[in-house]
Amino acid sequence: MADRAPPSPADLPSVEQLVGDTALQPFCEAYGQPFVTQAAREIVARARTRLLAGENVQTNALASQVGAHIEALMAPSLVPVFNLTGTVLHTNLGRAPLPAEAVAAMAAVATAPANLEYDIAAGQRGERDDHVEGWLCRLTGAEAALVVNNNAAAVLLLLNSLALRKKVAVSRGELVEIGGAFRLPDIMARAGCKLVEVGTTNRTHGCDFAAALEQGAGLILKVHPSNYEVQGFTAEVQAGELAGLAHRAGIALAVDLGSGSLVDLNRYGLPPEPTVAETLKAGADLVTFSGDKLLGGPQAGIIVGKSELIKRIRRNPMKRALRLDKITLAALGAVLRLYANPERLAQRLPTLRLLTRSENEIRALAERLRPQLAQQLSGIADVEVASCMSQIGSGALPIETLPSAALALTPRAAKRQRGSALKSLAAAFRALPQPVIGRISDGVFLLDLRCLEDEDGFRAQLGQLNTDSL
Ligand SMILES: *Cc1c(COP(=O)(O)O)cnc(C)c1O
Repeated sequence: MADRAPPSPADLPSVEQLVGDTALQPFCEAYGQPFVTQAAREIVARARTRLLAGENVQTNALASQVGAHIEALMAPSLVPVFNLTGTVLHTNLGRAPLPAEAVAAMAAVATAPANLEYDIAAGQRGERDDHVEGWLCRLTGAEAALVVNNNAAAVLLLLNSLALRKKVAVSRGELVEIGGAFRLPDIMARAGCKLVEVGTTNRTHGCDFAAALEQGAGLILKVHPSNYEVQGFTAEVQAGELAGLAHRAGIALAVDLGSGSLVDLNRYGLPPEPTVAETLKAGADLVTFSGDKLLGGPQAGIIVGKSELIKRIRRNPMKRALRLDKITLAALGAVLRLYANPERLAQRLPTLRLLTRSENEIRALAERLRPQLAQQLSGIADVEVASCMSQIGSGALPIETLPSAALALTPRAAKRQRGSALKSLAAAFRALPQPVIGRISDGVFLLDLRCLEDEDGFRAQLGQLNTDSL
């Protein structure tokens, strides 16, 4: 018997017929006929292209394909995941998780009008940064503060406001690339400044800066080496000495701290990172740092320092283009208020809570989870509890790591198939309803449990792990 002829474009249903299919009526009701028609048109066009390319198409499955297409379009694209990568402040995974206080503050102002730029007592126009400026000054000892969209914006705005068409002196050891296309020489050019490179990659001295200032620099910028460390035969000029040089030349010293902590991390048993307060105390006129790195808040860029300079920055029309919205301001305000009590900060601020979690606590969690996972993966992968090292991430303390514990999954596959088996295993965890993101290292798939706080939520979805293709 001859095979039935494969379908041709002429066999495809019309878009109208497809939209009339009973299976699509619930979609028409929920989302409206025009939207379903558009989705049907896309599926029919896709089918036609495939038929013309000589591929087979099940013409009777098109209605269900339209339904699946609509469901995919309607599902949110930005979703929560489990960050088990071992990097606490993971830029690609949205950096700092927010405390409940911040979420409540955001929700309160999201659905109602708010006094964003309105002084309630005076009944007149106010200033949006006033909602956080007082707290930023209180916590850093600064005279004034200003906030923008992120720290890259803070650096750009600072440079453009204070050194447009002027020379800016930076040590060659600090001409950083932070990642995500933040390269200091490029930012400098876009800000309209002329970069003056000072010293050498490994050693820069005060006299190098003194020589650069004689050529007429308008600003000194010191950049914290967030994501690397220069080791060996090195010398850098500290903020205190730079401030002296800058002030004698009648110019300002700005320090981009990147992460910049508001508290001394040593007090929580963490490696030290320069605090904003001590950098100002050392003589910096302005300090810039991120809201969503060690501070543990929402994405924001913060500039603190001398009020006369902050005023000049605030007057720059670019400030309007880089300003924060009411929701971010609400979250930032709530997070800053948590810093009032440093004693309780390590419990209440998720970033600090995760960074200070003890290895023992994480290991106990791993031991509790291991049996369920081992059973789930029996015959597919061996599951062990392993020691590992977490990273702080986002360029904070690049060299320091924190001892942690992981579930280490080793596929049973033969050695030469190990690589693809590991990739499939990682993909199966990413396909869970709340995707689980781990990391592959030395032939094992590691789930570093430092950032797993929702143990029940993690357990509850494990049964849905699709092991068919493993
Ligand atoms: C992270 C970082 C930046 C960029 O900050 P974002 O908030 O990501 O824009 C700039 N400078 C330094 C030194 C950094 O570490």
